[in-house]
Amino acid sequence: MEHSSSRLLADVDAQLAQWQAQGLLRQRRTVQSPCSVAPQVQGQRLLAFASNDYLGLANHPAIAAALAEGAQRWGAGSGASHVVSGHLQPVAELEEALAAFVGRAQALFFSSGYLANLAALPALLERGDVVFHDKLNHASLIDAVRLGRAQDWRYPHGDMAALERLLQQHRGRRAMIVSDAVFSMDGDVAPLRQLYALACAHDAWLVLDDAHGLGVLGPGGAGSLAQAGLPPDPRIVHIGTLGKAAGVAGAFVAGDARVLQWLVQRARPYIFTTASPPALACALLAALPLVQAGDALRAQLQARIAQLRAGLAGSPWRLLPSDTAIQPLLLGSNEAALAASQALQAQGLWVPAIRPPTVPVGSARLRISLSAAHSAGDVARLLQALQGLAP
Ligand SMILES: *Cc1c(COP(=O)(O)O)cnc(C)c1O
Repeated sequence: MEHSSSRLLADVDAQLAQWQAQGLLRQRRTVQSPCSVAPQVQGQRLLAFASNDYLGLANHPAIAAALAEGAQRWGAGSGASHVVSGHLQPVAELEEALAAFVGRAQALFFSSGYLANLAALPALLERGDVVFHDKLNHASLIDAVRLGRAQDWRYPHGDMAALERLLQQHRGRRAMIVSDAVFSMDGDVAPLRQLYALACAHDAWLVLDDAHGLGVLGPGGAGSLAQAGLPPDPRIVHIGTLGKAAGVAGAFVAGDARVLQWLVQRARPYIFTTASPPALACALLAALPLVQAGDALRAQLQARIAQLRAGLAGSPWRLLPSDTAIQPLLLGSNEAALAASQALQAQGLWVPAIRPPTVPVGSARLRISLSAAHSAGDVARLLQALQGLAP
């Protein structure tokens, strides 16, 4: 058959050209070395402030060895969904370790955080329920709310008075509050104690996604919920991801045993997907003790955060108020963010430009992410380059 010209493809071409013109086209770069702060990228050795490998564990030899040994012992595939025949022993052990780590009754393992969110929220929501979620929540939470078919309202970032008004307006309906615990593109920590107080006062579910707090904040890296002293209340649905500070991949939903039993029955992205390779759980069982024993790494990370913030204080850069490893420099326009990122790359530094729809229109930024693997000299080099490029 002959290729015919297609209106559909013309639409694709036009849209791609428009994204390009708007500075919104995303370009992947092939990394030719393992994840580290000094990756080889398309032939160039860069100093990277780009990954979420906050403790520098992604290429840890003991974790890689556990992955390899796990594959030797348990094979490559799991064969089926967790609810059919794919729930292998290493995952069961990992779930116990995860629950103990975050101080909850039970945990359910997922192959990604995106999937964990798509699973947990819709499963707990019914038509007619109301969901209140922070305007700056991660895309996976926004999509999960969409999939939930409840009515939803997005409250201004961190605005507890607005959230309380919404809860009062919809008093008497089954409600859910959803928030990033550490905001992924801003780095600030949600007002967790106030969120919890409101959830209790209004008998609402409180779903907290601690993708960026786990391993970084709280005693033993147990996360931002532990740091805030939140109790293991059954209404709190605790989501954590394992591809960031834990250095591997996967995610979990932790909480009350009855709630998790409910998810096993109802969460379609849990039921209708093949369980991850069991070796992944073996790798995570090796990673978790390293995370828990990582106080020295966390201290090193905190020192780098303090160094960066002190170095930029008083400079023209608009550094957002964050005490975490995520340190955004606000630029506003897509073009300015891209130009700054490219100028840094010309000096051998990799700091990604984050643009809409990842962040709101007009708030494009450089997202500096720090790691315990960065040295004081690495941060000094970044500071020097930023001083030369100050807007
Ligand atoms: C990264 C991230 C996710 C997704 O987790 P993956 O395991 O990478 O799929 C979910 N929520 C937040 C807040 C994140 O930053």
